[in-house]
Amino acid sequence: MSNSDDTTDMQTLDRLLDETAGNDDEREFGRSALAFLCAHAQPKAPLSSTWGAGPEHLELFHETSDQDERAEADAALAWQRTKFDAGFGWIGGPSEYGGGGYPDSYDRLFRILEARFDVPDPSPIRIGIGTVGPALVLHGSPEIVDTFVRPLYEGRSIACQLFSEPGAGSDLAGVSTSAVPADGGWRVNGQKVWTSNATFADVGLALVRTDPSVGKHAGLSMLLVDMKAPGVEVRPIRQMTGGASFTEVFLTDVHVPADMLIGEPGGGWSVATATLAGERKAVGDRSHENLTRAVELLRHLGETDGGFDDHRLKRRWAEVEIGVRAARLRQQGLQSVPAELVAPAERTADKLLTAANLAAIGDLAADLLGPQFSVDTGEWGTFAWNKWRMGALGYRIAGGTEEILKTLVAERVLGLPREPKEAR
Ligand SMILES: Cc1cc2nc3c(=O)[nH]c(=O)nc-3n(C[C@H](O)[C@H](O)[C@H](O)COP(=O)(O)OP(=O)(O)OC[C@H]3O[C@@H](n4cnc5c(N)ncnc54)[C@H](O)[C@@H]3O)c2cc1C
Repeated sequence: MSNSDDTTDMQTLDRLLDETAGNDDEREFGRSALAFLCAHAQPKAPLSSTWGAGPEHLELFHETSDQDERAEADAALAWQRTKFDAGFGWIGGPSEYGGGGYPDSYDRLFRILEARFDVPDPSPIRIGIGTVGPALVLHGSPEIVDTFVRPLYEGRSIACQLFSEPGAGSDLAGVSTSAVPADGGWRVNGQKVWTSNATFADVGLALVRTDPSVGKHAGLSMLLVDMKAPGVEVRPIRQMTGGASFTEVFLTDVHVPADMLIGEPGGGWSVATATLAGERKAVGDRSHENLTRAVELLRHLGETDGGFDDHRLKRRWAEVEIGVRAARLRQQGLQSVPAELVAPAERTADKLLTAANLAAIGDLAADLLGPQFSVDTGEWGTFAWNKWRMGALGYRIAGGTEEILKTLVAERVLGLPREPKEAR
């Protein structure tokens, strides 16, 4: 096991590249990616699974102070610009708009290599790049892609997702924010909630109701809103974990030009489902490196503190280990199939497995630690699990709650009878 101050050496990186690349072309691409990464960033220390060594790294969501928030967003944008200029900022994007035009596996290879380098945290720009951008490429006009999507990957702009409302989360098609035709565009009124990263976003993808007289799905449209426009007010929400990465967004008589409509009027639901599929894929694709390490740390905890004398806890540890391995194998299986052949509902199961594993790991840590889980004694590897446990709740909810996603898998993957839906 390496010491925490060891950095990943070139031999390890070459081996990682060889193990991950699927063919010679990917290997060649990976070599140029490694050359770029080595020229612009320092390799970082691998996460140590040795008890007590290095930082605990048990937080699942990046949290920051209000003061650091803007600086972190700027650092993420600057790194994105550096990648874009070298051809690694939009690896899977359409080449006519400046993307690399490569299959998904190249992007995944780059992310695996990049994770071994000390680069700015991408959290502030992740929604734009991983969720909003891909949906706009599918449904936006060429002008929208050129003017608003390309800058997300160039590191010049940040996007947020204005979907959830106080009265519409799981029942997303029930959104009531209204958009009525006005002055060569739309006048938008309503409130969104749980909007991540809206404080510094430049644009927001907003699901709005344009026709209240038809069925609830058919009356929806998707608009791209300028977050700096008059009438847009963003209020941060402080979380129980201390950070404020969520916001409420109030929209009062906001003017949205007609050409900021994404897709057809009344076609908002299909843009929303494409966006959510991207979000679930991003969670399912989450690196399994820190899950494997967490399971290893749990083993140490159970073996040294006598926790595993209770056979029920030991059995739960074994179940967690199996769950993490099963999720990884399933993910590898899906990654070996071309992305266009994988139904979005299949990727939903990936998100469910990842979220369930994160929660099971946090629950077991809490039960093994007892009071040390809730009281910060300063001892390594104890109170830090608190952040993991609370972050895991977020993964069970974001991008669709477990109940909703299980219904989706039941109906679309297993072919079980559909849940009765209330009409409007
Ligand atoms: C980390 C995180 C980031 C987020 N980021 C964003 C963002 O950037 N933009 C955005 O728009 N939203 C965002 N959200 C909001 C998220 O999409 C919603 O929280 C989620 O869709 C659930 O909606 P809700 O909170 O209104 O819960 P509700 O829909 O009120 O659900 C409450 C409970 O009831 C259950 N339930 C509801 N309906 C059913 C049913 N039919 N059958 C069975 N059970 C049901 C749910 O499973 C849940 O347990 C984020 C959430 C989190 C946690």
